[in-house]
Amino acid sequence: MRIDIFTIFPDVVDRFAAEALLGRARQRGLLDLRVHDLRAFAPGPRHAVDDSPFGGGPGMVMAAGPIFAAVEVVGPPRPLLLLGPGGQRFDQVTAQRFAARGVAGEGLSLLCGRYEGVDQRVADHLVDGELSIGDYVLAGGEVAALVVVESVARLLPGVMGNAASSAEESFSTGLLEYPQYTQPSVFRSWEVPAVLRSGDHGRIARWRLAKALQRTRDRRPDLLSARGGLSPDEIRVLAEHGQSEDG
Ligand code: SAH
Repeated sequence: MRIDIFTIFPDVVDRFAAEALLGRARQRGLLDLRVHDLRAFAPGPRHAVDDSPFGGGPGMVMAAGPIFAAVEVVGPPRPLLLLGPGGQRFDQVTAQRFAARGVAGEGLSLLCGRYEGVDQRVADHLVDGELSIGDYVLAGGEVAALVVVESVARLLPGVMGNAASSAEESFSTGLLEYPQYTQPSVFRSWEVPAVLRSGDHGRIARWRLAKALQRTRDRRPDLLSARGGLSPDEIRVLAEHGQSEDG
C-alpha cells in the first residue's frame, strides 16, 4: 500500500518507520511509505514554511504556498487528509477502511501541520478531509500520521505474522480483547486461569468471550451500546461465567 506523508520533519517520520513492524513492512515491499519534506518546496534562502496569522494572535501558521506546491509536484494518492484536532475521529473501523483501500491497490496521503496549524485555504481547496487521532492537542501532525500508518499497516495482509491475530483484537468485534497470558504458568504465585491450560478449545473460546464482554461492560460500556447491547447468547455466556448482564 502506498502512503505519502507531507511534513517539515521528514526524519522524525522516516526514523520511526525504519524499525520494527513498519520497517519490516517497508523492506518486504508491503508498505510503500513516501515522506516528503515541505521545506523543499518553500521559496527563499530560509525556506520559510510559516508566517504570522492575519488578524493577530500568538504563534505562526503554515502557509498555503509550499503545501500546494508539494502536493502538485508529487501528485500523491488520494484521499489526502489533513491531520488536526478538528478532524474526523480516527478509529479502528477507519483503519480497516484504509487497509481495505490498500488491498484494492489504492493509497492514502497525510498532511502534517505544525505551529498553530495550517492556512485554512489548504483545508478548503487542497485536501479531501481532516483526521484527528483524539481530543488533545499535539505539537505537530507527525505522531498522528504515524498512529494512522502503524494501525493501518498492521492490518495489511502479510504484515503481521499471524493473520488471525487482528481478527480477535480489541475493537474488531466491537469488544475489548480478553486477557492474554504466556509462560510461566505460575509467576510469583499468580496462576494462569486453569481453563486456558485445559486444552478444551470450546471452553476456552467461551471463557474468552465472557472476559471480553465483562471487560467491555466494565471499562467501555459505550462500546457495548454502540453495537446494540448484548445478544441472548452473550448474556448466557456471561451467566455461565458467573456474571449477570449488568455486573
Ligand atoms: N491551533 C490548533 C492546533 C495546532 S497543533 C487548534 O487549536 O486546533 C499543530 C498541528 O499538530 C496541527 O496542525 C495538526 O497537524 C497536529 N495535531 C495536533 N493535535 C492533533 C490531533 N489530536 N490529531 C491529529 N493531528 C493533530
